Amino acid sequence: MKTSTKNQTNSKKRPRLVLVGLPASPGYAMGHCHTISNREVTVVEETLPNERLAQEEQLFLKALHNTIKEIAQIKQITVDRLGIDEGRIFDAHLMILKDPTLVNGILDQIKKEKKNVQWAVHTQITALISSFESHKSALMRDRAMDLKDLYHRLMGALDDSGPVIMEDEISKGAVLISHELTPSILISLKKGQVLAFATDSGGRTSHVSILARSMEIPAVSGLRNISAMVESEDTIIVDGTGGMVIINPNEDDIRKFEEKLEVFNRQQRELFTMRQLEPMTRDGKYITLHSNIELVIEADKVLDYGSTGVGLYRSEFLFFRKGLPTFEEQVAAYKYILESLAPHSVTIRTLDAGGDKLIPDISAANESNPFMGWRSIRVCLEHEDLFEMQLKALLVANTKGNLRILLPMISSMQELRRSKEHIEKCRKELESEGVFCHDVELGVMIEVPAAVMLVDKLAKEVDFFSIGTNDLIQFTLAVDRTNELISSMFQPHHPAVLNMIHKTVMAAHREGISVAVCGEMSADPMSSLLLVGLGVDELSMTPWSIMECKKIIRSINFEDVRETAQNVLKMDDTESVNAYLKKKYSQTITDLGVSCFISTPESNED
Ligand code: PEP
Ligand code: MG
Repeated sequence: MKTSTKNQTNSKKRPRLVLVGLPASPGYAMGHCHTISNREVTVVEETLPNERLAQEEQLFLKALHNTIKEIAQIKQITVDRLGIDEGRIFDAHLMILKDPTLVNGILDQIKKEKKNVQWAVHTQITALISSFESHKSALMRDRAMDLKDLYHRLMGALDDSGPVIMEDEISKGAVLISHELTPSILISLKKGQVLAFATDSGGRTSHVSILARSMEIPAVSGLRNISAMVESEDTIIVDGTGGMVIINPNEDDIRKFEEKLEVFNRQQRELFTMRQLEPMTRDGKYITLHSNIELVIEADKVLDYGSTGVGLYRSEFLFFRKGLPTFEEQVAAYKYILESLAPHSVTIRTLDAGGDKLIPDISAANESNPFMGWRSIRVCLEHEDLFEMQLKALLVANTKGNLRILLPMISSMQELRRSKEHIEKCRKELESEGVFCHDVELGVMIEVPAAVMLVDKLAKEVDFFSIGTNDLIQFTLAVDRTNELISSMFQPHHPAVLNMIHKTVMAAHREGISVAVCGEMSADPMSSLLLVGLGVDELSMTPWSIMECKKIIRSINFEDVRETAQNVLKMDDTESVNAYLKKKYSQTITDLGVSCFISTPESNED
């Protein structure tokens, strides 16, 4: 983190500070700080006489009941405002509150150890928080935030002082500042009430960052100690695109912010006018641009944002809830996406559970290497009923014939062949029941080095490849994609990775099948040029990146980027690749007004 105390002063004589963190959600905002200090709770341990225990027990049960009611209401607001999938975030809260181990643990401390209710709640929940916080998985560490939220709500309910934050407390135009922010706080706010947020901690995978992007609120996380540095009513500029904030900006900062905001808004408007233009290079090479979606309702914006289909629907997001989705629920979800986008193609990936996507009723707990553990296609091939239910739901939902099925994490021919047998079996069973099944193209994710070594053989048995660079980089370079300590080693432009992509493209094209890239790399401007040069046919990314990518593709010559890719493939280290790309394309990228987050991170600096 970089700080600067130059040009001190604003009208309140508070110091100007520039803090650099992680870009959690793009966009710019300026407003006044509204700090949310999670309530300071002083808990005293008391040992009570027997006659007080029933009263303490009742107090707890009433607080529990009220908190469950409160969360259920927040969940409903979330569902109304953002859709069913976002609402499911609160199922985890409700599950924790109804967990008999936790509830009985608290009641036992009251009844058997004769402790006061605040002490019982405090000791039980803080113990759980510590165990979540020390968990290896970033996802589980994120769950500690959910627990803290619940802790404060329960404590508030016990002293009848209500939830930690009431939306009425926040005046319009506020920027929320907090050590950490919970989804329930963000979601309980009215649309437009909060301009942005900035937090000490948090990462891109936390639910709150996911929600910020869904709600299109600019956000910066990982600022380490912003919550200790600001005072309520300090003015703050949030640059969610660059991952930076300025507290108590001077006139020059405000002028620059206004310019940036104007440019950003103009670019968004200009980008929007490009929605209908073809993603074609200047010398006439068409690149398919598809969207990655996680939520069913995102299907509504896929075409609006200028892509021509879905390249990756991460179907596991449908399973992040208490109790698995039924066959009917799955059919309804897949059908909604498929029919909203017909006749455009929709690639639905079969369940990719595990790793950092733990699904309560499926995933194994406490694996020491979850990314390399019991996950993805391995789980499906073992849980045949679960797999076949999903495959049948997909085939039934495919009424318009625009479905493509994508199998994740394939690492052997046997996994592919066994999956195909399941698909065939499902098709036959459905047809014997009189259900018509359209032909469906089948693809595999190329995201494990073993699959790259088998691409020639895989290409003969599938209709398309989709390269999952997030996992391919992780497994090729042995760099955990969720570990911030080694994030600089997660290098998409590492020669080993680029040669793997090249090998995959060559094998696919020899067999006449197409290759997509659906990892985060495809949304980075510099990387997208390289991927096009390497011969990738399709780039799939978050919907809002599509228009920017279209702009880049329309500004380049395929022959030029192809030559660039050939030169890059001869290089033997990432630094040379990045330096070469930067020399060749950074001017073009600057002129286009797009920012890179992989190869030239310094371009994001002020
Ligand atoms: C990938 O691994 O690149 C990918 C697209 O899948 P996920 O990020 O869901 O693992
Ligand atoms: Mg993956």
